[in-house]
Amino acid sequence: MINLSLIKIENLSLTYETEKTRFKALDNINLEINKGEFVCLIGSSGCGKSTLLGVLEGLLSPSEGKVYINNKEVNGPGSDRAVVFQNYSLFPWMSARKNVAFAIVESKRGSQKIKKHDAYATADEFLNKVGLYEYRNKQPGELSGGMQQRVAIARALACNPEILLMDEPFGAIDAKTRDVLQQLLLKLWEEDEEKKTIVFVTHDLEEAIFLADKIVFMEPKGIKEVINVNIERPRNKEKLLSNDRYRSLRSRLVKMFNNEDDNIDLVGGAGI
Ligand code: ADP
Ligand code: MG
Repeated sequence: MINLSLIKIENLSLTYETEKTRFKALDNINLEINKGEFVCLIGSSGCGKSTLLGVLEGLLSPSEGKVYINNKEVNGPGSDRAVVFQNYSLFPWMSARKNVAFAIVESKRGSQKIKKHDAYATADEFLNKVGLYEYRNKQPGELSGGMQQRVAIARALACNPEILLMDEPFGAIDAKTRDVLQQLLLKLWEEDEEKKTIVFVTHDLEEAIFLADKIVFMEPKGIKEVINVNIERPRNKEKLLSNDRYRSLRSRLVKMFNNEDDNIDLVGGAGI
């Protein structure tokens, strides 16, 4: 039987352990993600989204269960995956193009070597794709938050990973810029001949519906439901607002979110 799933998560549990404490952050998760699929993980704060992404990245090891990529068990980070985080995570002392070129060289380490000149050419190509060619010699501190995130996206894509892992990449960006970046990301993903598989964490429901093929709704320690978005592409944000499927999905997700909040124990409270 042909198995289309690129990522397979099997009975995954993860417990954070220190000398004195143990905390189970993920409890027996099962999930399959297909090649070329855009998957959004949503769920309230602390439910384990970043932990799950950390396991996919290979930085966190499962306490139980296994994760497979291309039928191979994940046991560390690899050049088949690239990550984009909320905080820009660029090297502040390097220009935008050097940040990208450096990542390309690093990702090729141990496999086919790449000439510096070629790495810079690829860096320029991808900075151009994200609309930053003219800013390529600027350092991160000279760029706005939105621009830094563009560099981070260029850097991740320029390494040509099979899988892109994104942890609330637009979470710290103003709403208008976020719209622009969401559309840019979708455009780059859609125009790619060999579509990347994207796992994108967000707690913004609208962002999830706009971007995803499949929404994985998480609850503390696990998955509550996997929802197929089923809205045709290319998607247009303004048009979506009057799309029936979008509206019903949105109200369903809002309800699910509110129910989740009801489950949060506020005794001794978070000071709300
Ligand atoms: P999310 O990204 O959904 O907000 P996280 O995956 O960051 O959630 O965290 C899930 C749970 O695990 C939270 O309760 C958090 O406090 C806990 N946690 C995260 N990292 C650690 C750690 N290094 N040690 C102990 N507990 C942790
Ligand atoms: Mg998180």
